[in-house]
Amino acid sequence: MTRPDQLPEQPSRAHDDAVARETAARAAAAEPLTSPHDGAPGPVREQLTATVEALSADLIGLSHRLHADPETAFTEHRSVAAVAELLARHGIPAEVGVHGLDTALRARIGSGGGGSGGVSGDGGYGDGEGDAAAGPTIAVLAEYDALPGIGHACGHNVICASAVGAFLALARQLHDSPVPGTVLLLGTPAEEGGGGKETMARDGALDGVDAAVMLHPFAHDIADHPFLGRRQLEVTYHGVAAHASAHPHRGRNALDAVVMGYQGVAMLRQHLPDGDRVHGVVVDGGQVPNVVPERAAARYYLRSQHPDTLQDLTERVRAIAVAAAAMTGCGYTLTWDPNPPYLPIRHNRTLAARWSQHQAARGRTVYPRGVVPESETGSTDLGNVSVRVPSIHPMIAIAEPGTALHTTAFAEAAAGPAADRAVLDGAAGLALVVADLLHDAGLRAAVATEFAEAGGPVDVPSFFDTA
Ligand SMILES: [Zn+2]
Ligand SMILES: [Zn+2]
Repeated sequence: MTRPDQLPEQPSRAHDDAVARETAARAAAAEPLTSPHDGAPGPVREQLTATVEALSADLIGLSHRLHADPETAFTEHRSVAAVAELLARHGIPAEVGVHGLDTALRARIGSGGGGSGGVSGDGGYGDGEGDAAAGPTIAVLAEYDALPGIGHACGHNVICASAVGAFLALARQLHDSPVPGTVLLLGTPAEEGGGGKETMARDGALDGVDAAVMLHPFAHDIADHPFLGRRQLEVTYHGVAAHASAHPHRGRNALDAVVMGYQGVAMLRQHLPDGDRVHGVVVDGGQVPNVVPERAAARYYLRSQHPDTLQDLTERVRAIAVAAAAMTGCGYTLTWDPNPPYLPIRHNRTLAARWSQHQAARGRTVYPRGVVPESETGSTDLGNVSVRVPSIHPMIAIAEPGTALHTTAFAEAAAGPAADRAVLDGAAGLALVVADLLHDAGLRAAVATEFAEAGGPVDVPSFFDTA
C-alpha cells in the first residue's frame, strides 16, 4: 500500500486516562458481593478444588491447544473434537453436532434425566424442583470460537478450558459422593456474531435446565458486568439507474438514500439513552460515478441495555431507514437479524455473589457492577440464555487493566501465565457455584425468586416479531 499523503491524527488519551483514574479510585473502595447462603459443604468444596488442581495439565493443555489452532464461528471442528477427546479420556461420552449445530457439544453427568423442571413445559422455573428425586439440572457453557484474523483475541479458549475443568471436577465429585442432580456441559459455537446459543436454545438445549454458568476473560475481575442487547439491520435501497451527466433527472439515487439514512442515524444519537449504540458501514455504494447508483446498502448494529429499550431503538432506526427511501424516491428492503439478535444479560446476583465469594478465597478481588465503566462493553448470546434461565457470566482477569478485548494484545494474554491461572481459578469457581446449587435448596429458591422478580422467562423467538 502506498503511504497516505496525510496520516490520521492519534485520538487523545485524555478520556481514557481520566476513566482509569476514576476506575482505580472506585476499585480501591469496592466491596465485593457476599452471599448469605451456605452452599456446598466444606469437604465437597475441598474435593472440587483439589480435583481441578490435579487436572491442571489437562486444562491448561486444552486452553493452549485451542489457542494455537483458532477456528471461527460455526467451523470449530478441531476445537470441539479436542473437548470431546479430553472428556473421553476421563470416561465421559459427549455428543458432537447437537441442537442444530455441527460444532455444538453436549455431555451429561449426575442422576437426573435432564428433562424435568425448568422453564419449558411446566410453567417455569421456580415451580419447585421438578422431579425431586432427579434434583436440579445445571448447565456449564463452553465457548470456543475465535475471531477472523486475530485468533483468540476474545479468550474463548479460557472459557472452554475452565468450563471443561468444572465439569470434570463435578463428575469426579458426583461419582464419589452422589447427590440428586444433573450437570450438563454445553459446547456453544459462534458467540462472535453467529448466536449459537440462541440456535441451541430454540432446539431445546436448555429444556429442563434450572441455571446456567460460564465466565469470560477480561482485564478485570467483575461479578456482573452489563452486556448490551444487539440487533443487526441491513438496509438495501433500490434506485433507478441513469446516465449521471446526460439524464440525471431519469435516475433515483440509491446511494443518496444510504447517505440520508446514515445522517439520520447520526442525528438520532444525541437523543438516545446513555449507553445505547448504533454503528454502521456502507456495504454497497454504487459502481461508477457516471451511473446513478441503482443499488446501495448499509449494515448497522443497534445496541441497548434492556430488551424493551432495544425494541424502542429498533423502531426509531427503522423510521429513519424508511424515511430515507421516501426522500430519495427509492424502494427499500429491510433485513433484520440475519443471525439471531442478542438480548442483554440479566445477571443473577444471588449466584454472582457465590462466584465472588469463591474467587475471594482464591485471592481474587471481584468487583461488583459499576467499578469498571459500564460503557466499556459489547454483546453476547449468553444474554439469550440469561433471560430463559438464571445465569452468571462473570469476567475473570487475564490481562492488565486497559487491555481491550479483540486486540492482538488480548490474544497474546489469552495463552499467558495469567490466563493459565484464570483457567484453574475459573474451573474451581464454576464447579463450586454448581455444587452450591446442587447442595443448597435455599440458594436454589433465592436464585429462582430473583429470576422471577426480574420478569421470569422471555420468549426470545417472538420478542422482536413486531420488527
Ligand atoms: Zn468477543
Ligand atoms: Zn468473547
